[in-house]
Amino acid sequence: MLIAGNWKMYKGPVEAREFCARLRARLFGLEGVDVIVCPPYPSLHDCCGILANTEIAVFAQNAHWAKEGPYTGEVSPWMLKDMGVGGTLVAHSERRQMFGETDESSALRIEGSLDAGLHVIACVGETETEREAGETENVVVRQLTAIKTVVADENLERLAIAYEPVWAIGTGRTATPEQAEEAHKLIKAHLDVPVLYGGSVKPDNAEALLSMRHVDGALVGGASLEVDSFAAICEAAVRS
Ligand code: PEP
Repeated sequence: MLIAGNWKMYKGPVEAREFCARLRARLFGLEGVDVIVCPPYPSLHDCCGILANTEIAVFAQNAHWAKEGPYTGEVSPWMLKDMGVGGTLVAHSERRQMFGETDESSALRIEGSLDAGLHVIACVGETETEREAGETENVVVRQLTAIKTVVADENLERLAIAYEPVWAIGTGRTATPEQAEEAHKLIKAHLDVPVLYGGSVKPDNAEALLSMRHVDGALVGGASLEVDSFAAICEAAVRS
């Protein structure tokens, strides 16, 4: 089981330091779950320091594909690796919807990050309109195909997919465990890697989702911002 907390654009270094110290103490000794936090860039350095030598990994929320170059405002995966970051999210729906990320640019970012030696959690998922139009399978397979074309076999062990139906992100509406299971089964049939569910995962729905056979963990947004709720989801993962 893998539980990753996406902090989005919350928690600067001061808040992040306090959060990581409390999380480290709270999860000490918890076995049977891999835990990741994904702070915003300015907090990565402090989080890596506080969580060094613990079981909690630190991932970024995005990364460019190049090692270096004239890409103002972008962050190189090699630089992230240098500072002790273990991996990165790529292709989150907020990147796709608000910042023009496409299947192609996402694929480049995934390839660059894997080549730099990072782990990658690549996000896929349909919008509400796409689901209502019966397009869920087509959309998810199209997104997966773009990812598959760039992932070398030797890098597959550092890739996970997050299935995040866009209509469930930050809305309080979660996919039913059966909807998640169906999508995860489809994803695994195309790409045999761990698949996390994301979309309004909370302490009270985590166990039902995580108990599904093809659900290997969760990508948690809002509920990862409080130590108590994030830790409760990690504990639910251990029971699932
Ligand atoms: C996310 O940001 O990836 C996410 C799933 O958010 P939330 O848990 O708040 O829906």
